[in-house]
Amino acid sequence: MNQYDSDRIYDLAANIGFNKANTKTEADCFVLNTCHIREKATEKVYHEIGRLKKSFRKNNKPLVIVSGCVAQAESDEMIKREPYIDMVIGPQSYHKIGDLILTHQRDKNKFNETNFEVIEKFDELEKIPISQKKISSYLTIQEGCDKFCNFCVVPYTRGPEYSRPFKQIIDEAKILVSKGAREITLLGQNVNAYNFSENKKKYKLSSLIRELNDFKNLKRIRYTTSHPRDMSMDLIECYKDCEKLMPFLHLPIQSGSDKILKSMNRKHDRKYYLDVIEKLKKANNNIKFSSDFIIGYPGETEKDHKDTIDIIKKVGFINSYSFIFSPRPGTPAANKKVEDLEKNKERLKNLQNILENNQLKNNKKYLNQLCEVLVENKLSDQNKYFGRTKFMTPVKFYLNNFKKGELINVKINSFNRNSLFGIYTINKNEKAA
Ligand code: SAM
Ligand code: SF4
Repeated sequence: MNQYDSDRIYDLAANIGFNKANTKTEADCFVLNTCHIREKATEKVYHEIGRLKKSFRKNNKPLVIVSGCVAQAESDEMIKREPYIDMVIGPQSYHKIGDLILTHQRDKNKFNETNFEVIEKFDELEKIPISQKKISSYLTIQEGCDKFCNFCVVPYTRGPEYSRPFKQIIDEAKILVSKGAREITLLGQNVNAYNFSENKKKYKLSSLIRELNDFKNLKRIRYTTSHPRDMSMDLIECYKDCEKLMPFLHLPIQSGSDKILKSMNRKHDRKYYLDVIEKLKKANNNIKFSSDFIIGYPGETEKDHKDTIDIIKKVGFINSYSFIFSPRPGTPAANKKVEDLEKNKERLKNLQNILENNQLKNNKKYLNQLCEVLVENKLSDQNKYFGRTKFMTPVKFYLNNFKKGELINVKINSFNRNSLFGIYTINKNEKAA
């Protein structure tokens, strides 16, 4: 979502005459768009500003703006601690960045804009031309969260759940496709909680997917991040009959232990999660999954960790993110006694070894096979192209004619844990994975 926000922040700055700088020292405005999900985020911002100060020691001071969730969480404190910062702007107020920059240029005031004005934000953003021309584009449809998992800052930094109007999203999708997008990833902190009503009609994530599925020039649809509780049947049914919806779902479980899930306030248990997985597999037996895992949540025992390993083996995730629990100030879990760091590191290593093996095993299956790839761009340092499989696996391959935005079949001739490598083949008779 920060990628989407950064693109839009760039559009807002371009609207008042800014251009992207080629080098750091050439820039006269820096926007540090930050994430607060795990600790050290705040310190990273101060370190980055320290580096900026050094680079600009002999030049004029650039305008320095901190946006995103660190700005939201730290607010005025940031400007007090580091006067080199000119503005802090929260994730729901960044639509004002153009006006704030112009005002600052006029009267040199410092600003702290950290209100939740999410409706106004999207109404304002709608008026600003979109510059991104990416084959694979992001589109935010929902923001914020009402679930309040005990470890997570999102409900406090992004605010309550908000779903953008259906038509506003479809209009933005049309613009993205007209600018060359062939894949759209719908974004939200809880994307499958999307819920918008107008004229007695209810729109859900499934309504958006079905509408996008009819877009002529769009080839792939994805969405992220989903909560297991919101995998409703209407959404699961889309995997049966929307051919553009990719058979790959990031569905974070966090832990395989019911005790820990309860203590996290996750609102689902193992059984519920595994039932959702079964329903999805019934809808499309090609579907594959990835997840997020939190290791060493307060109270996690060896048995709880084994339950997590067990669920990884049961579901066979092909790719996942895993982190040691990071206490976030202001969240209910922040004051709980943290587990021993060395033990947590060992558990993380154990879990990541298993996940990495799954990834490697999965990639090995494609060796000497044809794989359907959406061509995204040419790699700058090699004579190769880059794209992804239906399952998001990166593929690097040789191609004679540049076919940006096309779906092609790549014959895979080698692999590593993260990527597949191959050459484009025109053999259309063989069925690609
Ligand atoms: N809404 C999604 C869900 O509930 O599945 C997840 C979105 S959250 C912004 C992204 C991921 O960050 C979470 O799935 C979780 O694994 C990780 N995360 C959040 N808070 C964390 C914390 N305090 N410590 C470690 N990881 C954390
Ligand atoms: Fe955070 Fe996701 Fe839980 Fe919401 S559902 S509080 S975004 S982890």
